[in-house]
Amino acid sequence: MTGFPSHLLRQDLRGFAGYSSARTSAPGAAAQVWLNANESGLPSSVDPGGAARRYPDPQPADLVDAFADLCAAAPDQVVVGRGSDELIELLVRALCLPGGDGILISSPTFGMYAVSAALHGVPVTDVPQTEDGLRWQVDTAALAAAARRTGARLVFVASPGNPTGSLVPLRELAALAEQLADQAVVVVDEAYGEFAAQRSATSLLAEHPTLVVLRTLSKAHGLAGARIGAGLAHPDLAAVLRRVQAPYPVPVPVARMGVAALAPAALAETRRRVMQTLRLRDALGRRLRALDGVRAVYASEANFLLVRCEDPDALLHTLASAGIVVRDVRHHPALEDALRISIGSAEEMSALENALGETTA
Ligand SMILES: *Cc1c(COP(=O)(O)O)cnc(C)c1O
Repeated sequence: MTGFPSHLLRQDLRGFAGYSSARTSAPGAAAQVWLNANESGLPSSVDPGGAARRYPDPQPADLVDAFADLCAAAPDQVVVGRGSDELIELLVRALCLPGGDGILISSPTFGMYAVSAALHGVPVTDVPQTEDGLRWQVDTAALAAAARRTGARLVFVASPGNPTGSLVPLRELAALAEQLADQAVVVVDEAYGEFAAQRSATSLLAEHPTLVVLRTLSKAHGLAGARIGAGLAHPDLAAVLRRVQAPYPVPVPVARMGVAALAPAALAETRRRVMQTLRLRDALGRRLRALDGVRAVYASEANFLLVRCEDPDALLHTLASAGIVVRDVRHHPALEDALRISIGSAEEMSALENALGETTA
């Protein structure tokens, strides 16, 4: 693996070592009596096994290894955090000088890229996606051109996209990373990767040191409430991301849950849930396309459908009367008539179908 180009990192953080915690500065090896972190000497009664008595490993090794296995990567390429949201934040923090370097996004897209940038005082340039009524497309050539024009340090591409549901071909992601290798890091956010019929962009990491892939247990793995995500990056960049991270990002009970979710039996169960979700999604797609007033149901490689309709307010109202909440995405550029519907359980989808039975959109 070639090196990560260190000139892409924030100049003012060169040599920044981060917080030196009791865990990271400990000698390890032969230590038996740990009196270096002001923890309680006895466990709490709410924590009978005492697992939470001590501060956790900042990067729990078993969780890191599990993500490395999942992504066919090495443990030193993995950074775990509080959802992929935290990884987005860390990337902006590590690569963009506040008030200076910018990021690129491709709307309509996930809101957290622009939120992290705004909170960091970093400008956002949007290169809108195009669509043909069937699917959305990220214009990677236009992204490369905009990166050159603006000097952006970070390019965020979600694949499958949210709320678009569309994939960006791996060869286009590889070409984008290649073209911008001397200037910017290309982040491929695969929050919905488990639902898609394309290989993960982690397969590109060995060839492209400036590519980063984000994964999460929040969607297909069913653990949104546990807040577990990971970034896969060149080992040099991964080391920098760990240094700019808060000291103990992964609570002990959460790390355990994450490791359990990535064990073979749980992964097999996740694959079965994914298959069921895809069946329910395709059935809902057919149902929606047959509904009066529906203008478009975009092809989706994720666990939701993006729908354009004549009267979104009426549809929202009908669904709300049945106690059903879907996502109003009309605030996104170019989605002034659109809603996003997540695929839930079979029972929830029946409730949705029943509510749709008495309506037009
Ligand atoms: C849901 C979502 C995330 C957030 O994932 P967490 O791991 O829960 O923080 C990231 N990216 C996209 C595109 C998403 O839709």
